Amino acid sequence: MSEDRHPLHCILPPYILERLAESPDARVRRRAIDTIAQSAALRATRSTLAAMGAMAAIPSPRARKHRLVYDAKHGNFVDLPGVLVREEGDRASKDPSVNEAYNHSGYTYDFYKRVFDRNSLDDRGMSLVSSVHLGRRLNNAFWTGEQMAYGDGDGSLFVRFTKSLDVVGHELTHGVITHTANLEYRDEPGALNEHLADVFGSLVKQWKKDQTAAQADWLIGPDIMGPDTEAEALRTFRDEPAFEDDPLFGTDPQPKHMRDKYTGSSDSGGVHINSGIPNHAFYLVARAIGGRAWEKAGRIWYDSMLALTPTCGFADMAERSLQEASSLFGARSRERRAVRDAWKAVGL
Ligand SMILES: [Zn+2]
Repeated sequence: MSEDRHPLHCILPPYILERLAESPDARVRRRAIDTIAQSAALRATRSTLAAMGAMAAIPSPRARKHRLVYDAKHGNFVDLPGVLVREEGDRASKDPSVNEAYNHSGYTYDFYKRVFDRNSLDDRGMSLVSSVHLGRRLNNAFWTGEQMAYGDGDGSLFVRFTKSLDVVGHELTHGVITHTANLEYRDEPGALNEHLADVFGSLVKQWKKDQTAAQADWLIGPDIMGPDTEAEALRTFRDEPAFEDDPLFGTDPQPKHMRDKYTGSSDSGGVHINSGIPNHAFYLVARAIGGRAWEKAGRIWYDSMLALTPTCGFADMAERSLQEASSLFGARSRERRAVRDAWKAVGL
């Protein structure tokens, strides 16, 4: 029950870990099983802590950006946050993971503040807490509901999970969603939750790099992919799969149209799978409108996120985004037309 009320968000979808656990390569298999075991142990600890009401209190609100980075020293969730190693305004550390967690959470804060005038995840200035070096060679990153926690990766399939700004932006956006639409983490509401995390994760990166929709890579996690895989990223908003017949990762299962929607029960009803459908719609909107995606498409999606409720599905998101496009740009605007055409193109 506490798992439902306090979902633990991780960046690696179960379908990737399960596929790796079945690899013919014994080394890959061992590492995948190790990651699954460590993630399961973390999840169990987390549920117990939640049930006991023993989770860390959210640090008191601040008027402006306030980051805290801790070293988990390869410990478990019980040990979080760990030892404080860098606080707001401190000099850079010698540890690249510490600096990446600090910088990338800072860029995410700046993005929400400058683009949407949002003061941190809760809009009340909550501190951004990150712990690095969670677990041992752990292939995952988590948003626990209070803080970020990053594994180091095994150095082969994945490198340190602090390295991708879109991964950090994705996980922190789960915090924004909790304080806004608070979408349930299963089936279509869960896929919308994943979708919004991907949208704003990608937009943080595009904003930081000052890229137009045409220049952006539209990938999630390209910088965490290790030297032993050919897969370009974990996911893509574009039409083609992020990886295909990859010896380790297999083929990207994300659908881009409602007719291919996953209807099974794995991955909490396909939350990391079916997010491919609205992701592709957002990409089509951004490309059709052109220019910087956070300015118009991002604004329509942000306003929609504020208006959604916990059980909303894809049709609700489509309807809401059309309303927001109308009120922002006009009922006969090209922006609204772009939104309508995009949802139609993915079968909604
Ligand atoms: Zn997620």
